[in-house]
Amino acid sequence: MSNHSQQWLQRSRSAVWHPCTQMKRHERLPIIPIARGDGVWLEDFDGKRYIDSISSWWVNLFGHNQGRIKNAIKQQLDTLEHVILAGFTHRPVVELSEKLHALTGLGHAFYASDGASATEIALKMSFHYWRNCGQADKHRFVSLQHSYHGETAGALAVTDVPLFSATYAPLLQSNLRVASPDARLALPGETAADVALRTIADVEQLFQREAGQIAAIIIEPLVQGAAGMLMYDPIYLTRLRALCDQYQVHLIADEIAVGFGRTGTLFACEQAGIRPDFLCLSKGITGGYLPLSCVLTSDDIYNAFYDDDVGRGFLHSHSYTGNALACRAALEVLAIFEDEDILARNTEKAARFSHHLAGLQQAPDVRHFRQRGMIWAFDVDTARSDFSQVFYAAMLARGCLTRPIGSTVYFMPPYVLEESHMQQLAESTAAVLAELRQQAEPRGGNVETPLP
Ligand SMILES: *Cc1c(COP(=O)(O)O)cnc(C)c1O
Repeated sequence: MSNHSQQWLQRSRSAVWHPCTQMKRHERLPIIPIARGDGVWLEDFDGKRYIDSISSWWVNLFGHNQGRIKNAIKQQLDTLEHVILAGFTHRPVVELSEKLHALTGLGHAFYASDGASATEIALKMSFHYWRNCGQADKHRFVSLQHSYHGETAGALAVTDVPLFSATYAPLLQSNLRVASPDARLALPGETAADVALRTIADVEQLFQREAGQIAAIIIEPLVQGAAGMLMYDPIYLTRLRALCDQYQVHLIADEIAVGFGRTGTLFACEQAGIRPDFLCLSKGITGGYLPLSCVLTSDDIYNAFYDDDVGRGFLHSHSYTGNALACRAALEVLAIFEDEDILARNTEKAARFSHHLAGLQQAPDVRHFRQRGMIWAFDVDTARSDFSQVFYAAMLARGCLTRPIGSTVYFMPPYVLEESHMQQLAESTAAVLAELRQQAEPRGGNVETPLP
């Protein structure tokens, strides 16, 4: 690494507290200062390039330095950068809300700046709805085993990743948990749909007992991302929708990670033919350009807040709610989906990348290879406790940014991935796995903790 790069690294280490990181690890594992991005590529200060195979934490949909989004933001910048959204409105926020309504059937859009805030909003709205309807007892939330919904206190209370939540347990509301429909848990002879049907029975029993106390169940449709890309059959969602209707429990679909084409349809819920009561969106919404999140909900819920009484209104707010630049970026993202036939092109791309990765499925230590839309994942049967760090470092050396979760390797690439990138990722992965297989397991190494 050049001196120039070293300097940025050192300055960042001392002044920036990096997310999801034990900072001491960076004594051994260098932080990589990035100078610029273009398409799937990130480039460091020494001109070394890395394929961003995880879309920079799942946000960068159409690659870096995306011409259309960049120009849309520039135009908006010359018109209106931001205005308070209480008592005022503006063109991008209105147009975006209308577009999202047309795409989801949910006609009321509430905005924030990040995913965790969207989760908080959905939870609060659900509780407040029941309260406004004279059912204040409905104050508990149900989430799935291995769920992830963000890291603020409310969101963490419906997150089941002990590494993130256990420390803060005394601060968190006690909620209810049901089994994950994770298709890997199929018993001999069971299909993914069988697992879904078996686990939905858990929900039904819980609702039978506790529905009087339950405001909502929150789920990540089709793919539980942060726990390691656990995938499940859409029948789970179809049945869940029916149970929620039957027992009067809201269904909150957290599509923060899976929305915007990630699972093959614009929204994952479409594959189950369902409409949630609350839909949380963020991450890909601006193509990775600006922080924005949104909670969409129905007329029925909206109307329960519409009253002469101020206290029955939803008084939640964030300073940057409905930021004009972010909304303009999101509108351009939706326009790209339409104009450039992204979903159809992704179907074809996904087939090609799956083809490149097919050989991996034969590798002796690869388990549960899975794919849905533009997400690929597999588990590596390894005794190495430091697998994710070693794999990450070896892939970086080959110009690929990956971020295994424990011993699960996954790809969530920008939709601009081309043949040569697919080949580099597939070949590098195979080569790194082969290298690691050859090496003896280090003794007494650092115990690995899985970080998404
Ligand atoms: C990332 C994520 C969140 C949290 O979003 P942030 O913007 O990181 O707060 C919530 N839910 C899911 C499913 C996510 O993947």
